Amino acid sequence: MPEQSCLFCSIAAKDAVAEIVYEDEQLIAIRDINPQAPVHVLLIPRDHDLESLNDASSLDNKLLGQLLYVAAKVANQLGIAETGYRVVINTGEAAGQTVPHLHVHLLGGRSLAWPPG
Ligand code: AMP
Ligand code: ZN
Repeated sequence: MPEQSCLFCSIAAKDAVAEIVYEDEQLIAIRDINPQAPVHVLLIPRDHDLESLNDASSLDNKLLGQLLYVAAKVANQLGIAETGYRVVINTGEAAGQTVPHLHVHLLGGRSLAWPPG
């Protein structure tokens, strides 16, 4: 069910504008509005079921697998698969999660420092 006043539910429902780079039955992938790298894509499940990774159970294995599979597919599509990229799920306040609707960041197109800040 779409959650009222959830930004990512609005984007998935196309009630809010975003640059879509991929979509399928389970998820939508968009350009981040405030990119932290030349390629910065968000992979967003269409359903609001999981507010963060903390809500995941084994029932979500298919969705979680699809998010990673599509991250690699979009990395290839956008030309960063060979040079390298990072896949990040900020979970909770200390990790900097700001939108309480599970999403995966795909970052690439430059060298990425480790450890992250
Ligand atoms: P997080 O901080 O991990 O919850 O990530 C939320 C991300 O959503 C941030 O990188 C924001 O820049 C991004 N964001 C916020 N609003 C929008 C929007 N309207 N369209 C695309 N990305 C957005
Ligand atoms: Zn939502």
